[in-house]
Amino acid sequence: AARLRGVGKTFDGRRVLDGIDLTLGAGEFVALLGPSGSGKSTLLRLLAGLDNDFDGELTVPGRVSVAFQDPRLLPWRRVGENIALGLRRTDPREAARQALAEVRLDHHLNSWPSTLSGGEAQRVSLARALVREPDLLLLDEPFSALDALTRLVMHRLVSELWQRHSPAVLLVTHDVDEALLLADRVLVLGGGRIAAEYRISEPRPRRRVEFAELRQRILG
Ligand code: ATP
Ligand code: MG
Repeated sequence: AARLRGVGKTFDGRRVLDGIDLTLGAGEFVALLGPSGSGKSTLLRLLAGLDNDFDGELTVPGRVSVAFQDPRLLPWRRVGENIALGLRRTDPREAARQALAEVRLDHHLNSWPSTLSGGEAQRVSLARALVREPDLLLLDEPFSALDALTRLVMHRLVSELWQRHSPAVLLVTHDVDEALLLADRVLVLGGGRIAAEYRISEPRPRRRVEFAELRQRILG
């Protein structure tokens, strides 16, 4: 779904990304870890086409959707309108309703964003990203502001939506357990490069028990 070759990014003479080589397969779920300031969001912005000032080669065929840590809903539009906005469909409102049902929020179609809880707003943001039927879904720490229980619910929801729609996913997270639970492959960004890469072969339902050992390896 995406291919990067020797991608680099410089801010004010400082090399933040330096030679990123990365291929995301169709339908692959990849998690991206790395210390704060290592360039994870910068990389996501390049993939999202939000920043075209970089060097190297980047190919992103097809549609791309992004969901950020802060859901960024338009406060003066109702929830359904936030999802339907700019949607090229014969019936955008019905598409929005279906997308909301998928994140189990059909009852909030006509609500104002300010009346939603943090987790609900994040689910709306997810619905808005998915209704565009992306080939590549970029998630930048979408759950880090949520409480632990809501995060668990979101993990299950994201797995379910990913299995149903099968976009390629690049999930930026600080949460190693989240990465190990959801992803097929875990990348660690460091020194402007992909410093480490782990492929997870354990079937998803059995993963929780395997976490401890892998977690130890990644955290060193
Ligand atoms: P975090 O985990 O804290 O979100 P991150 O890995 O996402 O960190 P980035 O936001 O990609 O990190 O930032 C990487 C580096 O690039 C940081 O040192 C940051 O200061 C710098 N940077 C990001 N955006 C800009 C910008 N618009 N102008 C100048 N420097 C920037
Ligand atoms: Mg970031």
